[in-house]
Amino acid sequence: MYRFAWLLWAASGCTLAGGGPPMGRAATEYRIALVGTGWAAPEAFLEAARRVEAACEATAPFDHYRPVWVHRSAELRPFRPAGRPSRMLDVEAGPAWAAAEGTGARCVLVLVAGRTGGAGGAGLAVIGAMDPSFPAGAVHELGHAVGGLQDEYGGPPGPACIMRSTREARFCQACRQVLAGALARGAAVTLEGR
Ligand SMILES: [Zn+2]
Repeated sequence: MYRFAWLLWAASGCTLAGGGPPMGRAATEYRIALVGTGWAAPEAFLEAARRVEAACEATAPFDHYRPVWVHRSAELRPFRPAGRPSRMLDVEAGPAWAAAEGTGARCVLVLVAGRTGGAGGAGLAVIGAMDPSFPAGAVHELGHAVGGLQDEYGGPPGPACIMRSTREARFCQACRQVLAGALARGAAVTLEGR
């Protein structure tokens, strides 16, 4: 109800006394399309989608810039890119974005049934709902896709960050700032060499 009320407010183009959106909501709406592929039952896809949404909205800065989620389904063909880590799972960007056409989505997260792995960058993320990291892995991949964040695997110990390990339930301060900037602009950061 709250979200619906906010959308009405945004659509009306009015400004509130004191300016800005109510309850600290981001001024710019950020839509993420969750595109299900390979699901036998829509209920199972919706349950996985809601787990992603809950995990994401519990993680700063997504908790503040709460995305608007839209659901779609498509027959995509997930594949493991040659020469990349075995857990990596990707899809062709064109069909994935085509599935989200008309939704106004800034980012597409493909939710794959029954497969493991994930990948993300340049506005497109992929996650297998059977991946052991799920749904934290989805938040990690959205870090790549929305903020252009890099993996923080290996190297010297750094601040706790979900880009370092999906066992961490938060982004580090630096990643939060980059993500917040992208969410506030309503634009995904392009990651070269995805
Ligand atoms: Zn980080």
